[in-house]
Amino acid sequence: MRPAAEGGKLWADFAPPDFPLDTFDPHQVLGLASPASADEIRRAFRRLAMRWHPDRNPSPEASERFRLIRAAHDALLVETEALESDGAARGPVEEGELEVSLEEAVLGGTKTFTVVRRHPCPVCAGEGDVPLQYSRLCEPCHGTGRLRRASGLERCGVCEGKGYRFKARCEACAGSGEEIASRELAVTLPPLSAEGRILRLQGQGPGPADGPGDLFLAIRYRDHALFTRRGIDLALEVPVSVLAWLAGDAVAIPVLGGTHRVPLRPGGGERELKLAGFGLPRPEGGRGELRVTLRPEFPQALDASALEALLRLDRSLAGDEGRHYPEVAAWRRRVQAAGAD
Ligand SMILES: [Zn+2]
Ligand SMILES: [Zn+2]
Repeated sequence: MRPAAEGGKLWADFAPPDFPLDTFDPHQVLGLASPASADEIRRAFRRLAMRWHPDRNPSPEASERFRLIRAAHDALLVETEALESDGAARGPVEEGELEVSLEEAVLGGTKTFTVVRRHPCPVCAGEGDVPLQYSRLCEPCHGTGRLRRASGLERCGVCEGKGYRFKARCEACAGSGEEIASRELAVTLPPLSAEGRILRLQGQGPGPADGPGDLFLAIRYRDHALFTRRGIDLALEVPVSVLAWLAGDAVAIPVLGGTHRVPLRPGGGERELKLAGFGLPRPEGGRGELRVTLRPEFPQALDASALEALLRLDRSLAGDEGRHYPEVAAWRRRVQAAGAD
């Protein structure tokens, strides 16, 4: 029987070297040469999932690696299946936009897209009105062909001055001449979908009369209530307690799809945090950064015990003023020197 350690070595024999966690290259993640077939992508995914699924692998990086492996699989498969089916265009194509939240752009998910089809109204054949069997007295002008206006008498536009109508508005289409049919489509949005990426939905084009055709949807991002976009980077301002900021406590920073705790450098001074990999998807893979501006806030409504605690701290720091408040110490020396003159 093989010792367990040797079993581990066997993995290294055919597993690709571990992909880097700071950049996202779907081919590199799956250890595939580009281009790969859909079957190769699925096989690579299954092999890596066996190794990195968090249920099987207790190492701390397993869940992040598994997330990237799945993202790479989804991203490559969508592209590859589109390419493999990219024969001659079948039937007419249609283009549209799929609006997604920034969270959906990063995490992926299922979206609903409403396909609206407009056909000529079958009742009025697209005319918007239908001929009447018997002519009818025109209601607005009471058959006179004229309408009284402030400026005087005007020709009635409804009957064109005839006093009688030979056509009536089509009730089926409310006079628009169009029949509108809408249909909801479930669209799979791959994780890490960059803005402008095109999703191809086969057979969902304008048909069926003209053959199925394909529907192409361009991804467009919706604005976010918290984050401001700067290209593929995101910006966020976060108010923090000035005391926590000075003490170098960890602050909870909202990120797309969750929260990220960031330890601050003790002593304050940090106003900008750059969280690499927490921005928006880059078209070529990977993500931009999240730029956080920290806004230290002074505490309000301090009670007696809080004030006392602050004073106690301040007196203890003043005991070594040269170290803790060098500017104050220098200023004090200037005051003394000025008094000695
Ligand atoms: Zn009609
Ligand atoms: Zn009239």
